[in-house]
Parts: sequence; structure tokens; C-alpha cells
Amino acid sequence: MSDLTLLGAAETAAVVAGGDVSAREVATAHLDRIEQTDEVVHAFLHVDRDLTLTQADAVDQARADGSPLGPLAGVPLALKDVFTMKGAPTTCGSKILQGWRPPYDATVVERLSAGGVVVLGKTNMDEFAMGSSTENSAYGVTRNPWNLSRIPGGSSGGSSAAVAARQAPLAIGTDTGGSIRQPAAVTGIVGVKPTYGGVSRYGLVAFSSSLDQGGPLARSVLDAALLHEVMAGHDPKDATSINAPVPPVVAAARGELGGVEGMKVGVVSQLQGEGYQPGVQARFDETVALLTSLGAEVVEVSCPSFEYALPAYYLISPSECSSNLARFDGMRYGLRDGDNGENGVEQVMAITRATGFGPEVKRRIMLGTYALSAGYYDAYYGQAQKVRTLIRRDFEAAYAKVDVLVSPTTPTVAFPIGERADDPIAMYKADLATLPSSLYGGPAMSLPAGLGDDNLPVGVQLMAAVQRDEQVYRVGAALETALEERWGGPLLDQIPELVLGAST
Ligand code: GLN
Repeated sequence: MSDLTLLGAAETAAVVAGGDVSAREVATAHLDRIEQTDEVVHAFLHVDRDLTLTQADAVDQARADGSPLGPLAGVPLALKDVFTMKGAPTTCGSKILQGWRPPYDATVVERLSAGGVVVLGKTNMDEFAMGSSTENSAYGVTRNPWNLSRIPGGSSGGSSAAVAARQAPLAIGTDTGGSIRQPAAVTGIVGVKPTYGGVSRYGLVAFSSSLDQGGPLARSVLDAALLHEVMAGHDPKDATSINAPVPPVVAAARGELGGVEGMKVGVVSQLQGEGYQPGVQARFDETVALLTSLGAEVVEVSCPSFEYALPAYYLISPSECSSNLARFDGMRYGLRDGDNGENGVEQVMAITRATGFGPEVKRRIMLGTYALSAGYYDAYYGQAQKVRTLIRRDFEAAYAKVDVLVSPTTPTVAFPIGERADDPIAMYKADLATLPSSLYGGPAMSLPAGLGDDNLPVGVQLMAAVQRDEQVYRVGAALETALEERWGGPLLDQIPELVLGAST
């Protein structure tokens, strides 16, 4: 492993800006690492050396010209294959988009490129971001670099695995119900779902439009904040994008807004205890005790409607998905099947959708179509929307009393590949703790909290009020410093070296 792949994003940007190494050398080190490890990890669906090196060369040229460099110029990044990028395919982990090359860049990709961030490739994911393990990809499973027989989380499992395996110091994921935070938790890294509307969704293929949100995955709180700031901000091309200044996440991550002393932290009664693995609960309890010792005032907060977050989410998100995925009809993008000159257009659409979508996507489309159908709409979709309002009220009542809420990110550590593949409800439960803040729309971070059962990483979730993203970075940075002092370095330093050539 080259030393360059050990550097974080802030450090990489500093050595590139200082002229110690070129962006090309940094990119090459990471491309080599991907080449050496990805046969085993399978984090990437698409890597294009030339496309990557062209971006790196542009940064080196800008530096040579004396042009101003962005805070992440020359830093490599892994991009979830749900964002469009010119010159590369976008599959969303689905067979139905096989061969589709979008003619435009997502706004997020434009911002990366303006900031000199170097995209290494597109990462594996659960099909259309539906799942918690990346097993729902049409292109094979991704393995957790901590233990190759375990899942890397999902749906942004390629992105989390790439960062944990040191293939990239930064990655972008999307989070609809937990898909950034849960993979970050089970791979021992930092993942942030920004406030809904904080990051543009233009060029992000929609799963559930009222919930989808892009955000950073990184090896430290500061690195996540630096990427967050590059990605975020108003975009007139996305009607749901917030037209207000980006919360000061980098200042918060640098400790410039203060530590946790005097802050009020609420422990959510409903998001712990029964259903949470002993090792997860233990690391969570220790983190709460640490917050107290750092001077935070910790109180218990009850949010009774959180109990209904899972059923509400599994009505609202499939309903939106059934509408969003109607556009994949074999006519406009990617796969077309059954077009033999005899079949009519409706038959071609039906055949394409039958062969192009995987079983979980079909399940969601059917659930959503049912929930929206005449006669059932009020009983299902309507009720779920009411529950969503109650959840929002629980959050608002909580944030009237406390600055942040905390919980474990996931009920368990990374589970074995295959264990929940035939049990959708067990799979859905991986997001028990992340779903409430998705339905509310507030920011939430998963931060490494130590090792739990089977020596696998545990994450703690920090949540804050809408547009108060800096609060999760402020608490996250203080906790990270205290925890790393305890561990003698980042948790990721404890990852076993990858057993290359291993198939399980
Ligand atoms: N695991 C949840 C689901 O399957 C969340 C996915 C996501 O956040 N994209 O819907």
C-alpha cells in the first residue's frame, strides 16, 4: 500500500497544494490500490484510468498556472453510481440501465470538478438505492473490508467499502432512509446525511424524492465537512434545494464553534435497548458517558412516534418509487428487451421491466402501487403521511429542549452476506434508527464509536434540527478527538489488512 493512500482528504489537499506531490501521483496511487484490491472488495462498478488522470492533470496544470485551488483540489473520490457524470455509465446497480451513458453532469459532479476533486469511478450500490447490504445490486456483492464475509452496508456499500479499504479518501453516497449512515457505521467511517434540500438532487436518479439526499463519506469528521461544503448550496435546477447559506460545517468540524461543553444532548429512549446488539448498546452507552465527561448535559428524550417510522417509511418511499421508476420503460434509457418486431410497445415495456428490474425493486413498485391505489390511498399512504407529521413534531419538541439527539446508528454490526437476503423485514430493520430523521429531514451523522460483536465497527448517530448541520459536526469533532485519544488513533487503523486473493 502506498503512503499516499493512507492520507486523509485534508492532508492530501495540503500536500498537493504545497507541491510535495502531484495530483497525478495521488490519483495513480489510488488507481493502483483499486487494481490490487477490488477483485476482492468489488467496491467499484466502473473505473476509467484516463478519465481520472485527465482530471488530475487539470489540477496540476491549475497549480502550475498559479490559479487558486479549491480546498479539496487533487483529492480522489469514489462516486455512487446513482449520480450522472458525462463520459461514464450510470447504472444505479440495475440491469435496466445497462449501457446508459448520461449526456450531462449532476450538479454535485459539476461542483466536484470546479473544486478540483478527482473522481476515481462509480461505486456499487443496491439497485436504485433500495437495500441495506448492497446485495441487491445486479452487478454482484461488495465485501466489507473489515471481514470479507460481511456486508459493507447499503445502499451506498460500494462507497463505504472504497473509503474503508483505502481505495479513496472520500466518497459520495445517498441517503433516503439510512444509506449513508448505515454503511458508514458498519465499515468504521464517518457518513453524513445533510439536511434534506442541502445538497442538489439534479442528476441524482430519484428513488423517493421527498427523502433522497446526497452526502459525504470520509475517514474523519473534518474530511466529511470539507466535502459537504463543496457539494452543498442552492441549485436553481432542483426545486427542493434550500435557498439559504450552507451551515458552517467546516468551521464546526475544526472546533471553531466550540466543543460540547454546555451543549444539551438528548438520548432517544425509543432508539436503544431491545433489538440492539449488546456490543452496539455498550459502545453507545460509553459514548454517552464520554459526552457527559466532556461537559455536555445529557438528558433522556422520549419520541413515541419513532416506533412507527419503519412502517411509515415503507409506505411513503415505495409510493414515490412506484411513480419515479415508471420512467424506465425500455424506450428512453438503457435496456430494451422483447423488441422483436412482433411485440407491441406495451409488451416491450412489460418485458423490459420484467427482465430489467430485480426482485426488491419489483417488491417496492408493487407495494407503492398498492398503497396509492383508489380505496387504499387513505388507509396506507394517507396514514403514513400523518405519522410523518407526528415524527416531525416529536423532533421539533425535542429540539426545543436539546441541541442534538443521539442513538446507535444501527441495531447490529455488519451481518454476514446472505443472512438476510430472503428476509426483507430483517433487512429493513437495519435502518430502525436512521429512518426517523430521514422522515423529518434533519441532518444526521454516523461516527465510529468502537468495535462491537465479532470485532466489527459500531457507529453512533448524531442528529440535529433542520439546517443545523454544523451541530452534528461540532459534536462529532469533539467526540472523535476524545475517542481517538482513547484508541491511540483512528478506529480504521485497527482494520485487518485485506486478505488479497480471498474469495470469501
Ligand atoms: N435501506 C433503506 C431502503 O432499503 C434505505 C435505503 C436508502 O437510504 N437509500 O429503502
